[in-house]
Amino acid sequence: MFMVPPLCIPRHAFNLWLIIKQRLKSQDKICSWDVSSSLSMLCPLCDLQPDSNEHLFFECSFSQQVWNYMKKYAGMSTSVPIFSSTLASLIPIAKRKSSKSVIAKMVVAACTYFIWQEWNWRLFKKNKRTAKQVIDCIMSCVRLKLLSCKFKKSNDGVLFSRLWNLPDSVFI
Ligand SMILES: [Zn+2]
Repeated sequence: MFMVPPLCIPRHAFNLWLIIKQRLKSQDKICSWDVSSSLSMLCPLCDLQPDSNEHLFFECSFSQQVWNYMKKYAGMSTSVPIFSSTLASLIPIAKRKSSKSVIAKMVVAACTYFIWQEWNWRLFKKNKRTAKQVIDCIMSCVRLKLLSCKFKKSNDGVLFSRLWNLPDSVFI
C-alpha cells in the first residue's frame, strides 16, 4: 500500500515547537543555572549582541542572513522583514495541507533547526560554519524531504517544483 510520508520533518517540527514555546536553552538560561560558567554572554553566531532566544531567532544578523536567502524558497514575500513575522504568519496556516503551507512550514522548521544547531556547535564544539554553509544544509535537507512528498499539480505546486528543481514525479 502506498503511504504518503508525514509532511513535516519530525525533529524539525519539534524544534520549531520548542522555539515557539521559548524553551530553548540559550546562554542567558544556561548561565542562570551555573553562575561559575565561563560561557560568553555574546551570541556565538554574530559575536555582537547579548545572547537570548529573542535575539537568536528574531534579531541576529546571522539568522537574518539565512532567512533572507530562504524566504523565497518558503514562498514568502521577500518583504517579510524578520523571522518573527514569519512565525506569526504560520499560525493561521498551521493546519492547512496545501503545497504552499506545507513547504513554508518545512522551510521555517528547517531554518530554525539548523540555526539552533549552528548555535550549539559554535558554543560547545567550537565549530564554525558560514551562513552560506548553513543555507546549503537547509536546502539539501528540505529538498530531500520534498522529493519524498506528493503534490497536486496546482499553480503553487508547479511554482514550487521549479523553485526547488523537483522532478515531475513529485506530482500525484
Ligand atoms: Zn547573534
